[in-house]
Amino acid sequence: MSRVERPSKPKFIADESFIKEFENYAHSIGISSIGYTLLNSDLLLKDKFVQYPFTIVLTMEMDNAIIKTAPGDDAKDLNDTAYVKASILTTKLSDFLRKEGYDTEIAQPMGGVVNFSLLGQSAGLGHIGDSGLLITPELGPRLKVSAIFVSIANLPVNEENEHDWIPEYCEMCNKCVKACPEKALIEKESCCGNEIELIQKKCVGCSLGCTYCIEACPFEEKGYSHVKAKFDKINAKLREKQAKNFDMGLWNHWLSENSKLFTDLDDGFTMAIAMTDNENMIILNKVDNELNVNLKSIDELENSNADLLFVMDEKHMDELLKDPTTTKFAELLSSKKIDVYGLSDPMKLGKGYVTFLNKLGLSIGGECCG
Ligand code: SF4
Ligand code: SF4
Repeated sequence: MSRVERPSKPKFIADESFIKEFENYAHSIGISSIGYTLLNSDLLLKDKFVQYPFTIVLTMEMDNAIIKTAPGDDAKDLNDTAYVKASILTTKLSDFLRKEGYDTEIAQPMGGVVNFSLLGQSAGLGHIGDSGLLITPELGPRLKVSAIFVSIANLPVNEENEHDWIPEYCEMCNKCVKACPEKALIEKESCCGNEIELIQKKCVGCSLGCTYCIEACPFEEKGYSHVKAKFDKINAKLREKQAKNFDMGLWNHWLSENSKLFTDLDDGFTMAIAMTDNENMIILNKVDNELNVNLKSIDELENSNADLLFVMDEKHMDELLKDPTTTKFAELLSSKKIDVYGLSDPMKLGKGYVTFLNKLGLSIGGECCG
């Protein structure tokens, strides 16, 4: 459908004002959100090839009428129309780029080349929910995604994803799983707990225009901001409750009982102690030769500069605090009731950690599960 030929000598650099102009045009023709990412083998479907990894990802609204229409021929027609509309918009944008001298290839939203939900997530436009659909702040899961691979080598590629809390919300929700009449969304055990898997061959989303999982999703029903506010509120309450499980008086006592264990550690050492299924952690550090114990949110782990992390469950934390001797600590470690993770590069783990770990019967080494 493209009306503009691919340029024989394409341009490779675009300035900020051109990107802005492109985005303004995209919004003016009905594109909801635009993101940029670099294609990799996880995003590209097996055996497919594209010339440029520089990828523009586009989302477009699916008409609300699809949601209101029961699965069947009419719903399928509406869904097909949404795909056609998205294809037309994508081609128009591709032509816009070609006219300006940039080469393009199109990944039409009907699919076949890339994993669109993952692509949208990689571009930071939203996050994949348990339904397997991309959820964005603007449209929730009611959208189509397409992409343009372009010769622009300096695209403002996204590095972060501020929507990565969505899977945590999905764990509490599961509404799409319950709403699916075809049992296409199934719970599956994995190394990291239970996960929801979409069984493509059971899903009638494309063949019958089924949208029950979209309709049931709180992001569709209430909107992104509402769900985020609810999620933050639930988390704040949970943290408050969980903080009560960390008795700071007992931890101060534990530290004073074990002070000799920490004597070889230099000023500036920091380690964290966390409880599984608890959003808080204990931070132990030495500042001006004073040992300190503080309670922090697990979200702050990255900023806490902790070199080591100890993780145990509630039962073993209770055991440790009831018998706050170094022997008990070492015993729980050797029986693997406490896991230890080196958060820093072992080669840089100075600060007296080697002696500290040896006192506990440990040495630096081992592997991480990732
Ligand atoms: S589109 Fe329909 S069949 Fe497919 S996962 Fe959603 S609810 Fe199930
Ligand atoms: S319905 Fe619930 S579990 Fe499913 S994608 Fe939406 S928020 Fe996640």
